[in-house]
Amino acid sequence: MSKNQNKTGSYSFFNCIEKNFDKAARFISIEKGLLEQIKACNSVYRMHFPVKIGKEIKVIEAYRVQHSHHKLPCKGGIRYSMKVNQDEIMTLAALMTYKCAIVDVPFGGAKGGIKIDPQTISSENIEKITRRYTSELIKKNFIGPGIDVPAPDYGTGEREMSWIFDTFLSLRSGDVDALACVTGKPVSQGGVRGRKEATGLGVFYGIRELCHVKEDMYSVGLDVGLVGKKIIIQGLGNVGYHAASFFHESGAIIIALAEREGAIYNENGLNVSKVFLHLKNNGSILNFPEAKNIKNTEKALELECDILIPAALENVIHKNNANCIKAKIIGEAANGPITPEADEILDKKGVIIVPDIYLNAGGVTVSYFEWLKNLSHVRYGRMEKKFRENVNAEFLKVIETVCKKKISIEEKKMILRGPREIDLVRSGLEDTMINGFHKIRDLKKSLKIENMRTAAFVLSIKKIIDSYEKLGIFP
Ligand code: GLU
Repeated sequence: MSKNQNKTGSYSFFNCIEKNFDKAARFISIEKGLLEQIKACNSVYRMHFPVKIGKEIKVIEAYRVQHSHHKLPCKGGIRYSMKVNQDEIMTLAALMTYKCAIVDVPFGGAKGGIKIDPQTISSENIEKITRRYTSELIKKNFIGPGIDVPAPDYGTGEREMSWIFDTFLSLRSGDVDALACVTGKPVSQGGVRGRKEATGLGVFYGIRELCHVKEDMYSVGLDVGLVGKKIIIQGLGNVGYHAASFFHESGAIIIALAEREGAIYNENGLNVSKVFLHLKNNGSILNFPEAKNIKNTEKALELECDILIPAALENVIHKNNANCIKAKIIGEAANGPITPEADEILDKKGVIIVPDIYLNAGGVTVSYFEWLKNLSHVRYGRMEKKFRENVNAEFLKVIETVCKKKISIEEKKMILRGPREIDLVRSGLEDTMINGFHKIRDLKKSLKIENMRTAAFVLSIKKIIDSYEKLGIFP
């Protein structure tokens, strides 16, 4: 057993990321100390606080980890799960640092977690716990628009972000930038349009871009383009749900969807919106009339397909099932779904792995847009929408005169339209994901790096080194 392995023989999650980091470090010539500084978690805040649930006092375990202060504020979600522990939150905070650097989001990485099962606790009690957690963060100066900005993650959403904002505002009344203390809020509470689906849409944009690269597609024996590709999605939380919808709309074939209770399969494709309706009405995807049930949900990962999208939790592809995976492409929508051992096995099999630190960065990218909106106190598009429409109308008049042709009402509508907030957010996200993909791919080619994960780490570490150097800390 190596020093990085725990008693059960598996690596700690943080050590997994360190392994990936070390692989990338081979391509970077810089003083070892600086690499050590980038790797280390800067601040770990572990707390216990009491909350009265019914007649009992429960002691709640929670964390906020700030992995890197090379850029401020720190940024990252808060998860609610019984699996929350220090190692997991430290790792997820580190992934946030690397993720932000890749997509040029000027934040250091952070992550928070509360060890509760939100499915077994009433919403009143979740609210109590969330508000108490927020005041603990305020007490220790671990939250604020310029300090550390939480967001949704596994088990949390808009509702929790609203409570965090409200608690922050009540203790910091008069702070004109208070809205920027948390992202992923509902639009009515200062959120930005397009945040909810951003991670899933980012996953879609990233995979679509890969599918357009002839050389990469041919290397795994696939045709160019997303249309007709057979896809399996594991996890139908916020990320998997939206990713599935975008893939389905684009003409890809969703052959299997997997959830905790089991998976469903139809080799001719599932109608995703019908499945979601079935899930809503029955509380489970199982027994969907147009599909076969797969009782052991893990087995869904091993089905024949072109693209596998793990969109739930970490370590679902490990050394014991990696050899059974038949996908030609794996898109890591979740954080850390593949262990280092599985990574090596899949690499040898020639599977293209699109890594989490790039592929699921859509969420934090749009969180950045929300943060900017909150600090500028104005909705995207508010200043330019009408102006654009007026200019477009003038332009259209000229075209009609010059061409001596009337443009149809439908075409007019399309041409005249000025940008709404959702249009700007989505185009910013699309541009970010396309650029990120090509930066990683170009680096992989120019430095002859073995896979996309290592190339993504190299890109990220280089950017972090650059900002440390510009800070003047390491002359
Ligand atoms: N929880 C998301 C992630 O892991 C989003 C973080 C954020 O928006 O700050 O990337």
